[in-house]
Amino acid sequence: MEPARKRRISPVWEHFDLITPNKVRCLLCSKELGYNNNTSSMLRHYRALHQNKEETGASPSQATRKQELDEALVSMIVKDTQPFNIVDDVGFRAFVSKLDPNCVLPTRQALKAMVEAKYESAKEKAMAKVEKVAAVKDPAGQW
Ligand SMILES: [Zn+2]
Repeated sequence: MEPARKRRISPVWEHFDLITPNKVRCLLCSKELGYNNNTSSMLRHYRALHQNKEETGASPSQATRKQELDEALVSMIVKDTQPFNIVDDVGFRAFVSKLDPNCVLPTRQALKAMVEAKYESAKEKAMAKVEKVAAVKDPAGQW
């Protein structure tokens, strides 16, 4: 119970500061908007400019798309017994980006984890291939 903070009832206030009695500033891009005791213009601004960008940088449909592509990739690795380091191959990467410029390929480590999680039986075969590949440090190992 904090009656004094009533104006913060709308969650959009997390992203705006009241800088004068009739002006607010967006905390995400510093844009100033008029404020008339309602949050509709703030909400509109937030939704139009920041909502999707805040989460993962990808829209939900892109996230779903990535999941589909990852699954297809895992299945290809298992069925064709491809080495995990195919995701590091310049030619393969170029091919994938032609197919889908928005596609972000998983790292070899991430791909390995996905394959291991899904197909225990394929693990040993795939592991043998991976061990031939020298360990490469990947700073973007988790995604
Ligand atoms: Zn903004």
